[in-house]
Amino acid sequence: MSQINHYINGARDNGTSSASQDVYNPATGEVQGQVLLARADDVNQAVAAASAAWPAWAALPVLRRARIMDKFKNIVNERAAILAEAISAEHGKTHDDALGEVTRGIEVVEFATSAPSFMKGEYSEDVGSGVDSHMIRQSLGVVAGITPFNFPAMVPMWMFPVALVTGNCFILKPSERDPSASLLMAEWLTEAGVPAGVFGVIQGDKLAVDTLLAHPDIKAISFVGSTAIAQYIHATGTANGKRVQALGGAKNHMVIMPDADLDMAASALMGAAYGSAGERCMAISVAVPVTDAVADALIERLAPQVEALKIGPATDRASEMGPLVTAAAAERANHYVTKGEEQGAKLVVDGRNFKQDKQGYEKGFYVGGTLLDNVTEDMDCYRDEIFGPVLSVVRKNSYQEAVDLIHGHNYANGTAIFTRDGDVARNFSKDIEVGMVGVNVPIPVPMAYHSFGGWKSSIFGEHHMHGMEGVRFYTRIKTTTTRWPSGMRADPQFTMPTLG
Ligand code: NAD
Repeated sequence: MSQINHYINGARDNGTSSASQDVYNPATGEVQGQVLLARADDVNQAVAAASAAWPAWAALPVLRRARIMDKFKNIVNERAAILAEAISAEHGKTHDDALGEVTRGIEVVEFATSAPSFMKGEYSEDVGSGVDSHMIRQSLGVVAGITPFNFPAMVPMWMFPVALVTGNCFILKPSERDPSASLLMAEWLTEAGVPAGVFGVIQGDKLAVDTLLAHPDIKAISFVGSTAIAQYIHATGTANGKRVQALGGAKNHMVIMPDADLDMAASALMGAAYGSAGERCMAISVAVPVTDAVADALIERLAPQVEALKIGPATDRASEMGPLVTAAAAERANHYVTKGEEQGAKLVVDGRNFKQDKQGYEKGFYVGGTLLDNVTEDMDCYRDEIFGPVLSVVRKNSYQEAVDLIHGHNYANGTAIFTRDGDVARNFSKDIEVGMVGVNVPIPVPMAYHSFGGWKSSIFGEHHMHGMEGVRFYTRIKTTTTRWPSGMRADPQFTMPTLG
């Protein structure tokens, strides 16, 4: 059984605490490792190592830091399959899905390699007679990232490549449910040339997070996870004087207009609702067909595909969907389906009794693909984020009713519309109050050089992640105004300096 430890000062570290937690293989349902749970001492040690490393790291020319990121990118590219296997083993997602996650993470590293360009400052000559002014971006110091289980490599990579290349030191507190990817990335960063202390990993739970939130030497916190915790992290971190970006949960709607290509919409829904077993913050969990005729035609296409989903372990490369991350997550998804039916939804495909018959995998945390029709706004399965392979169909009669539905929900991470009408598509993307919008694109995750983030209860804090928003989050600007002796006035000036 493996022991998953911390990464402090450039090496794996067992820390000072003997507390640990089981790490499961969700495909078999068996415990496969133990992750250490840090005490405050361990967190303090990682922060001290990072604080000591920061001045030299921040002073390194940005091109050098970018070259280290380039080396890291090449290592991750070469070993993508190793990282993907580590992800699948603890998370349960299929191998190809895990590879896709790694690719989306590498894209942020790639963006970070362009830091010499995006870290360029601004210069104004002659802001006054003989006076020049320039603005530069400088790092904050030691920053921390707290990440969820559903993307154990990609979400940390939304954060640390930008934080590091802009001159910060970074401490990662990954999810305790799938912690191994963090250690691989830490070792590969060291191999790429990141000096000891600049990147650290602290395994742990609330105690580790609270220690980071209270630590005076942590200047900023990036968080991705559920909304209740995001809200707590934002409130506590900002009360302690830190910059905080905290991304929360989601309930993403896809509107299907009567003129949409229904085969294309159904196929898009299959991937967006059931890919990664619905454990994506950008998963489509609500389909909103406009008119009953569209709803009937859509369900006719979806139901046989949902029933035919190939559900199995990542080791079987033919699997289209894996298990959920824990037994509790599977039970929770099933509970919402039962509640939905009790509250009046029509169960078109029931995944609750799915049995995995592959030998050795019978006890895995599998839930079958589930399709609920006639779901309404008041039902729990509509209001709450289920984070499982459950698609709810909410029927609406007009475009405006569909928009009103979306605007009535607390979450506003992503949304999509399927239509052939340019006017409708344009109005939707302009008017909808959601952070990320797809037009005939079901999972509109922005590329690394744009920024990722939702609105309303899907985010707390001002800055989205990666792209220039990430750069702004991890840097502070300094503006210097310069005059040389030849331009100096001899007499003192007591009034506010003006152009004069
Ligand atoms: P989670 O909120 O349970 O955990 C996230 C992190 O917070 C973990 O590192 C965990 O150890 C820590 N944590 C948990 N409870 C805590 C507490 N009481 N105090 C302090 N720290 C605590 O989330 P999860 O179940 O790992 O991930 C799934 C959630 O993440 C879903 O809600 C999903 O929508 C969301 N998510 C959002 C985005 C986004 O970009 N908006 C992306 C991915 C996941």
